[in-house]
Amino acid sequence: MQAISQSIKAGLRHCQSKFVQQSSSGIAVTLGLTGTVMAINSFGWLQLLEFQAFDLFTRHQPAVEKDARIVVLEVAEQDISALGRWPIADEKLAELLENINGYEPRAVGLDLYRDVEVPPGLNRLTKAYEAMPTLVGVEKAVGQTVPPSPILKSLGQVGLADLVLDPDNRVRRSLISVQASPDEVKLGMSTTLALHYLAEEGIGPEMLEDGSGTIRLGQSTFDALGDRSGGYQGIDSGGYQMMLNYRGGKGGGREVFPTYSVMDVLNGTLPKEALADRVVLVGVTAPSLNDAFITPYNTSFSNSRRNMPGVFIHAHLTRQMLTAALEGEGLLGYWSEPWEYAWIGLWAIAAAVSSWRLLQSDKLRKLIPPGWLVFGGTVTMGGALVLSGYGLFNLGWWVPVGAPLVAIVTLSVAMVAYHNQVLERLALVDELTQVANRRQFDRVLRQKIQQQKHVSLILCDIDYFKPYNDTYGHQAGDACLTQVARAIRQAVRRVDVVARYGGEEFAVILPNTHPELAEEIGERVRAKVESLGLEHSGSQVGPHVTLSCGVTTIHEGHLASAAALQLADKALYLAKNQGRNCVVLCLDGGSEGTAEAIPV
Ligand code: GH3
Ligand code: MG
Ligand code: MG
Repeated sequence: MQAISQSIKAGLRHCQSKFVQQSSSGIAVTLGLTGTVMAINSFGWLQLLEFQAFDLFTRHQPAVEKDARIVVLEVAEQDISALGRWPIADEKLAELLENINGYEPRAVGLDLYRDVEVPPGLNRLTKAYEAMPTLVGVEKAVGQTVPPSPILKSLGQVGLADLVLDPDNRVRRSLISVQASPDEVKLGMSTTLALHYLAEEGIGPEMLEDGSGTIRLGQSTFDALGDRSGGYQGIDSGGYQMMLNYRGGKGGGREVFPTYSVMDVLNGTLPKEALADRVVLVGVTAPSLNDAFITPYNTSFSNSRRNMPGVFIHAHLTRQMLTAALEGEGLLGYWSEPWEYAWIGLWAIAAAVSSWRLLQSDKLRKLIPPGWLVFGGTVTMGGALVLSGYGLFNLGWWVPVGAPLVAIVTLSVAMVAYHNQVLERLALVDELTQVANRRQFDRVLRQKIQQQKHVSLILCDIDYFKPYNDTYGHQAGDACLTQVARAIRQAVRRVDVVARYGGEEFAVILPNTHPELAEEIGERVRAKVESLGLEHSGSQVGPHVTLSCGVTTIHEGHLASAAALQLADKALYLAKNQGRNCVVLCLDGGSEGTAEAIPV
């Protein structure tokens, strides 16, 4: 009885290790591919996908109401015609500024390069500048630079007009400030305008005391963009940058700001309250002057009509800073890298597990083909990811969406492939003993005989197995078969193929093996099984389970597999006749005389 429980326990252990083996290779596939996607992501190869997601989310954010704090005064194509020349003379610009000043705005951004004098009227323009301490002119400090107006520079009323382009040439981020030299920080024009506006609300910038250089303005902290923040993977994040959070809805982003023509101001047709106490931005929108940029609102590169004039980008930026400082909203935050990778990993594992579950579900598989099932699952999960990304974006977080999406697709496809492989394996492997089944044996034997010079074959049959079943029961018989199969596998070489040939019969294919070596291996197999010491009281050979083996060799493919099997069967029959628990070699010589028994 002890022997039975031993055999059953051994059998169970084997089944368990089989389960662990199968699921552990599934886990290895999942982890390996997840790691690969993460590596690809860290190389920046998925950045464009992240940009696509960012743009999609930007376009679909709920539009904000018109922001009355900021007004754009545009110079459109028809205004240039009305003005008669461009750039307008200093005198005309002075007149424009004087008129604007008459409306008593809180701050004015002059988004026009005026580094050289355009006579006549420099004196009048200088006076106009001096009369407007909250007017800010522009310079371009990064890349191809454009100097500021010398007068405004001497008044200290210059801001940066620089916009930062992403690798795909779109404007998604901006410069709050740049450290121009160790003791000079240059602020962006929008930053300066926002600071002028906020100063009247009693709000000014404060440096956080944690030494990070982070600035707090009113209700928000402006975390500087890093080179791997959000979907970025190694950008130039020099200066103090932040993500632009356009809130223009589907309209394209311009209609957030009340917009008038400079001519309205020059002609005095604007009502007083249109500009009073607001931030007024003056800039060109005429396409001929080419001061427009590709933003997330461009759905195709070819459609330049959607390009956003620089002055509107500055308006968005100013708006974002005002909203952040006054309402504590509107900034985009990023997760630290470990969190981003955990997020990617989570989606990858969820995709692997759900695909595997779908493939394993017998009920669903009956209704829908497995490929479609996983496709549906992948689309659903991808949709859930995009929606979560969108939801988080609206809550102010830019999280990776492209990388997890690639992970979901990769893992789902991999699970289908892995599942097919497991099915294929199941079709070739004997369920009980986990050695090759008869079908696989026939296939391999045929192949080896065709390809190789010497192929040997061993047929093994457990001695007195019927009495074993009768004595210990069928279940114990099964466990015994499992153990014998394992012993055979351990006794042969790695290249040899062990198969379950029939009920309690096993076969071993020995590639490139001469008869002498085959016989030796046959003997090893026999001895190994005997040494298991499995109690067998019904055997007439001895107290333990034993094996009889028939060995044969096929030279130069001169025997078909059926004939080779016949020969091995004959050898096995002789072994049984010679008292069992022995190995007999039988070669093809046309006579029985070649059969030789090896006494044990
Ligand atoms: P011999 O020494 O001449 O080979 O005698 P034997 O009893 O082993 O030979 P026989 O062919 O009469 O009996 C084989 C037995 O193997 C019959 C069958 O019940 C048993 N058997 C075949 N397949 C399985 C199996 O999957 N599980 C179990 N437990 N027994 C099996
Ligand atoms: Mg038998
Ligand atoms: Mg038999």
